[in-house]
Amino acid sequence: MLDTSARTIFDEDQAAYRDTVRRVVAGLDTDRHEREGIVEREAWLAAGAAGLLCPGVPEAYGGPGLDFSWNAIVDEEVAYAGSAVGWTLQSDIVADYLIAYGSEEQKRRYLPGMVSGETITAIAMTEPAAGSDLQGMKTIARADGNGWRLNGSKTYITNGQSADLVIVCARTTEEGGARGISLFLVESGDEGFTRGRNLDKIGLHGNDTSELFFSDVKLPADRLLGQENGGFIMLMSQLPQERLSIAVQCQGAAQRAFDLAVEFTKDRKAFGKTVFEFQNTRFTLADMKARLQVGWAHLDWAIARHVKGQLTAAEASAAKLWHSETQFQLCDMALQLHGGAGYMNEYPIARLWRDARVARIYGGTSEIMKELVARAI
Ligand SMILES: Cc1cc2nc3c(=O)[nH]c(=O)nc-3n(C[C@H](O)[C@H](O)[C@H](O)COP(=O)(O)OP(=O)(O)OC[C@H]3O[C@@H](n4cnc5c(N)ncnc54)[C@H](O)[C@@H]3O)c2cc1C
Repeated sequence: MLDTSARTIFDEDQAAYRDTVRRVVAGLDTDRHEREGIVEREAWLAAGAAGLLCPGVPEAYGGPGLDFSWNAIVDEEVAYAGSAVGWTLQSDIVADYLIAYGSEEQKRRYLPGMVSGETITAIAMTEPAAGSDLQGMKTIARADGNGWRLNGSKTYITNGQSADLVIVCARTTEEGGARGISLFLVESGDEGFTRGRNLDKIGLHGNDTSELFFSDVKLPADRLLGQENGGFIMLMSQLPQERLSIAVQCQGAAQRAFDLAVEFTKDRKAFGKTVFEFQNTRFTLADMKARLQVGWAHLDWAIARHVKGQLTAAEASAAKLWHSETQFQLCDMALQLHGGAGYMNEYPIARLWRDARVARIYGGTSEIMKELVARAI
């Protein structure tokens, strides 16, 4: 179990909430998700019924209207359990776009279902030729009567197979650059919206990732989210929370890797003693333990700062950079201490190690995080 006894940012209500989260997460059939490459709808509904989805949604739209520290509890527990379920994307990213930029009607239409788990969501920025460099996106929405016609494609989209609603970033002026990007709400039944296959990844097999195609999708005017041509500013405003969310998950998973390594090495024997007794093992674990201690202190600082609205984009980028790199190093160290068992999928460290790799890439690569931090120096 994730030990939170030394942490001070959570109160008693949140401790009780964490128990609920643990109970729901323990009910996840992670092996099934891993096999099938997707999370069944019932798991989303169970999460919604227990209050795990979108804690930030205001009461007027069916949520409890809580701050990000509640999201963090879910993020930590899901990551510690080694699940790849895409709830955090819905709660930490998509919901906030609707809360911040949605019209009254859009909030009423989408948010209650996102809280209950009836509506699964995704956000589609990346394209085959535009990832780090989002300004190069080609998907375009042209004004058409009162509404829009959307054409283009997206790739690597988390929850892409299951999503009922996708926030799609598209160009709304012919010339390139940051200014002419807008956000659109595309629903699963919209004519011309299709999905490619569930992409074959090296890790994160427990959730779905897809290409999405838009062929002359007719969107009414009220599917524009926020200001026309204001998309890039909206993305830049929301990315810090996305990056903090990833940092939280990285820390939770890194802690699990450490705990698994301790358990395994205390049990495994070689040369007449436990693997834990070798000095190399104890020093490796001590190094991991020290980094985790620093990591939790840093994370709690970042969460508290974000809740107060003070976490800067550069600080969130630094957090994502450090926690994702640290997670990968710690998972690798933990796997090494497992020996051959660590390479076997039946041991949970194998999945943690595979799943860790992507955190240095998605939500902005480590190189882009360094660029963002450096720009603020
Ligand atoms: C499993 C998974 C899930 C994802 N989920 C989503 C999602 O839900 N929605 C979504 O929109 N996207 C999603 N992505 C996409 C992800 O955010 C991008 O893959 C990521 O931002 C990198 O973009 P890219 O793949 O185009 O790489 P590229 O931008 O082509 O990068 C290639 C290399 O060049 C480096 N590079 C690029 N620019 C610079 C620079 N200026 N300086 C130095 N180095 C640079 C990169 O760091 C990298 O090493 C997901 C990706 C994966 C793998």
